Amino acid sequence: MTYKIPFLVAILSLLIASCASQPPKVIKQIVRDTVVINSITEKYEYARFAKLDNYKVSTQHYPAKGQDERIRYLVLHYTAMDNASSLRALTNNEVSSHYLIGDLNNDTIYALVDETKRSWHAGASFWKGVNNINFSSVGIEIVNKGYTTDKTLTGNPDLATATRYFFDFPEYQIKKVAELSRDIIDRYKIDPVNVVAHSDIAPQRKHDPGPKFPWKRLYDQYNIGAWYEESQKSIYLSQFPYAEIDSFTFIQSVQADLEKYGYEIQKTGMWDEQTKKVITAFQYHFRPERFDGIIDAETWAILKALILKYRT
Ligand SMILES: [Zn+2]
Repeated sequence: MTYKIPFLVAILSLLIASCASQPPKVIKQIVRDTVVINSITEKYEYARFAKLDNYKVSTQHYPAKGQDERIRYLVLHYTAMDNASSLRALTNNEVSSHYLIGDLNNDTIYALVDETKRSWHAGASFWKGVNNINFSSVGIEIVNKGYTTDKTLTGNPDLATATRYFFDFPEYQIKKVAELSRDIIDRYKIDPVNVVAHSDIAPQRKHDPGPKFPWKRLYDQYNIGAWYEESQKSIYLSQFPYAEIDSFTFIQSVQADLEKYGYEIQKTGMWDEQTKKVITAFQYHFRPERFDGIIDAETWAILKALILKYRT
């Protein structure tokens, strides 16, 4: 915060210079932190209200009913860099995240940006009719090497047909992500479908946190995020229209379903590149055994089951 002092001095000297005949005016901070009690959790919280010279801004008399949290999304990322480079990149540049989870087996999680402030983690993004997700999300970056095109480097080349090979997340790192996410989701009451991957909200350009990120386990063990019901998926599996998969109508219906779930997609009626990328992002999240961007019975049934559970 040392940068503020020369700035204040500059403002003060300007004021003194421009009003040389009058005594210099004392500058007060317009916004200050106030301690309030959250009526739901009954815990003390810091809140920011205007503090004016001539008027009393009262927070006591008319607390409005119509209000909710600004934070509505939790976005998970990987950094594709090591610990030190991730810290440097997220603190010294125009990208940032609220939290950084390193790859060391210790008890530390880095908080880089205050949750009440916007961190710059998502970039151009869209989810279920809303864009610029940075405005209304908390972002967690996880140190992980991302992917390579050389399958021998990951130590687990388990996908013979893949062109990208992703790196595992160690168990102790997943536990940190889970506990931190649970805490954030509880405090802001984030909707399960709004706990998303960076690749969900920017499928044309992002792959993180990738198919090795254990979304199903987070759902099963910590009740984090959305997941489909196996029984509903099974019913849809038997209804997959094999004979129609290249028809305009079927392709458009898949695009409409992906849009209904939340993804940004053009309903072209063609298996084009943008559709393939959205399907890949969907598979990273919900069908990580296969992420080739091609709709198969399994991917389709999962999409249908998710819509039935969360979007109808
Ligand atoms: Zn990301």
